[in-house]
Amino acid sequence: MNPAFINLAYLVASVLFIVCFIELSHPRTAVRGNILGALGMLLAVVATLVDKGILAGGQQAYLIIFGGVVVGSILGAMLALMVKMTAMPQMVALLNGFGGGASVLVAGAALHDAVRPGMLPPTLQLTVATVLSGLIGGVTFWGSLVAFDKLQEFLLPGRPILFKGQQLLNIVLGLVIVGLGVLIVMEPGDQWAYWALVGVASVLGILLTIPIGGADMPVAIALLNSYSGLAGAATGFVLNNNVLIIAGSLVGASGIILSQIMCKAMNRSLANVLMGGIEAGAAGAPKADDVYAGKVKSATAEEIAMLFDNASRVVIVPGYGMAVSQAQHAVRDLTNLLGAKGIDVEFAIHPVAGRMPGHMNVLLAEADIPYDKLKEMDEINPSFQQTDVAIVIGANDVVNPLARTDPNCAIAGMPILDVDKARTVVVIKRSLSPGFAGIPNPLFAMDNTLMFFSDGKKAITDLIAAVKEAS
Ligand code: NDP
Repeated sequence: MNPAFINLAYLVASVLFIVCFIELSHPRTAVRGNILGALGMLLAVVATLVDKGILAGGQQAYLIIFGGVVVGSILGAMLALMVKMTAMPQMVALLNGFGGGASVLVAGAALHDAVRPGMLPPTLQLTVATVLSGLIGGVTFWGSLVAFDKLQEFLLPGRPILFKGQQLLNIVLGLVIVGLGVLIVMEPGDQWAYWALVGVASVLGILLTIPIGGADMPVAIALLNSYSGLAGAATGFVLNNNVLIIAGSLVGASGIILSQIMCKAMNRSLANVLMGGIEAGAAGAPKADDVYAGKVKSATAEEIAMLFDNASRVVIVPGYGMAVSQAQHAVRDLTNLLGAKGIDVEFAIHPVAGRMPGHMNVLLAEADIPYDKLKEMDEINPSFQQTDVAIVIGANDVVNPLARTDPNCAIAGMPILDVDKARTVVVIKRSLSPGFAGIPNPLFAMDNTLMFFSDGKKAITDLIAAVKEAS
């Protein structure tokens, strides 16, 4: 096939990827963006399959690829159907890891091919890119497996794992990787050096991820996502494949941008995340008994319904518990009911509410709640003082005032939604259990807070019935 056609197909695929990213940035266009991205990927895969490099492998090469596509598609479809929305971060972590692992294997195979007897010496571009693929891919694969395990709490605890000399060990491993990298560039025929580099990078990936825990995991996932893209881009240079370079760079850049957005939302610096020194002060949070003893007031649906009689503005703050209880449709019904009573209802969206970026936006969009009712943290925070009732449904860390007041707690310095400034705060959750960061929440014990202990969906359904009965 004429290389010009292949490159044209890659160009169209790349444009589709870029349009996909633009469309993904808004819930209204996200589905279309997803379809365009998938089309771009299909075009890139087909163009690569008809490329001469693959044709040279003959029928057998196609059979192996077809087998891989079938197995991968079945596994992918099964995972997509089985995995719950709330377990999406683990799924994303795994997918990032597979991207990194694939880069390691493809770059290793390309190096193996390039140093066969009778071949010209490999180019500097190939050897340097191979080193980068092995390094970033190894870190990404093992780092992602650790992130997956920490979120799932299979073998490793969710809390940070720190030991003496950890940073020093990381520096030593980094130096070993540099040494092996130089060796690969100078003597590409020594293929053992590549696999040794991958081994050391794998240990580094584990060591860089185990100190990250609790509330900082979203940043780690976004960063690993970026790494997987960079590993792909490096492999694109190994293979001289333009679409892989472009797609990998897009994922790498968007992952870094997302990491930075998450860092800002959690008040962490990216350097702090990269050094893996996050959450070292998590142990400083106060004890739950000290925070709650004798101060928590609970209320019934009927009592809460009465609050709406004199309310003109209500803000709903969704969190992870709304996702668990799948309360979004009931929340929409409550919004409509309050709207019909002439109450202005808006939603306050924290950037790390739930368990993945945009989690709340997706759920509320699914329930057809108009986008213009969804307000970002910076926009809605100044208005809490003029809010009659703030309804917190299944959110905890993102409304925890300890972030402002306790410099030693796990979420110290994380900007939060200022619900405590509302006239009355209603918190819907099942118990006084902590959220993801594992710390108590003084909001639940404040004078203006009423706890409504119940499953999120049931609470909203009961509230709707009580409001209807009262009117
Ligand atoms: P939290 O994890 O802080 O709290 C969720 C609360 O929901 C819990 O306290 C729980 O209390 C309650 N809950 C659970 N199930 C139900 C239910 N069925 N009905 C009602 N309530 C329920 O959630 P937030 O959204 O406030 O904060 C998100 C946290 O997750 C942050 O710490 C963030 O850093 C982290 N994170 C975010 C990611 C992201 O990208 N958005 C990714 C990974 C982590 P109870 O058991 O008492 O009901």
